Amino acid sequence: MAKVHELLAAGPTLSFEFWPPRDPERFRRTLDVLAPLRPDFVSVTYGAAGSTREGTHGLVIDLLRGGPMVPVAHLCCAAHRRHELVDMLARYRGEGIDNVLALRGDPPLDSDAALPEGDLRYAAELVALVREVGDFSVGVAVHPEGHPDSRGRLVADLDHAAAKLRAADYAITQFFFRVEDYLRLVEGLSARGVDKPIVPGIMPIDRIGQVARMAEMSGTTIPSELAARLEGAREDPDEIRRIGIEVASELGQKLQAEDVPGLHFYTMNRAASVSAVCANLGLSPST
Ligand code: FAD
Repeated sequence: MAKVHELLAAGPTLSFEFWPPRDPERFRRTLDVLAPLRPDFVSVTYGAAGSTREGTHGLVIDLLRGGPMVPVAHLCCAAHRRHELVDMLARYRGEGIDNVLALRGDPPLDSDAALPEGDLRYAAELVALVREVGDFSVGVAVHPEGHPDSRGRLVADLDHAAAKLRAADYAITQFFFRVEDYLRLVEGLSARGVDKPIVPGIMPIDRIGQVARMAEMSGTTIPSELAARLEGAREDPDEIRRIGIEVASELGQKLQAEDVPGLHFYTMNRAASVSAVCANLGLSPST
């Protein structure tokens, strides 16, 4: 199976993030729309502390067997013992999975409870463990506006991100709305001698409450002008989606102009907005 860092070297790539679906039929319809866009890879989220352990594994293997999409398994170290992580990685290895996104993990959006401690504290330690277990292509998460835990200590946050990415093969960013935030991150990492591919993550806004919650949790700024437009359309879900497609398309165009290594879409298991944005960006086979 192809490794993501090799695909990025031949890039630019197109990739999609999915989560283990609650409704497999509906997810099948999402795939029917998005698979024809021929993504270079697709990634599957992992519920920290193992809440989707079997669901993530099942979808990753289904995608592998269904072909031709290259699946990337997210794995979070939070709340896990080291041997559990080793077992999951060895199982993937045995089944022919070559690609892992190594993360710390967050509690689910609907929970305020902190995650229990695990044997590994930071994602960088998981990168090292993945390397020990097998010959995976390893990606990590990076945060264009700084990780919220860093509480404004952006230099230290960048130092940690640089150390993590130095040991990994590539990074995918948290979603963001201002291209300058992405460029500043790339520059900051480059200044620390890290020039690995950093794939920008784009989330087309679909629902106002959902984006507000996700932005708060991830430390993403919703620019005031965009927030005002969304607020003005609060009672009109179609208009919210239209704004989401417009904003994501504009961001994607600016990023394409910067020769980014790829574009990664947070699909939230919905196809319509992502496929519209891809069409606007010339990423659909028919455009
Ligand atoms: P880390 O790299 O461990 O960083 C977390 C914090 O610790 C940062 O503030 C960092 O500066 C600090 N830090 C790191 N190293 C050190 C050190 N040595 N000393 C002191 N401080 C340090 N979450 C999920 O639960 N499941 C998913 O599937 C998932 N997928 C994601 C995919 C992408 C592309 C992205 C961008 C995020 C994803 N997340 C997911 C969210 C992610 O788990 C959270 O952002 C989490 O809070 C941090 O994860 P991390 O891997 O960046 O952590």
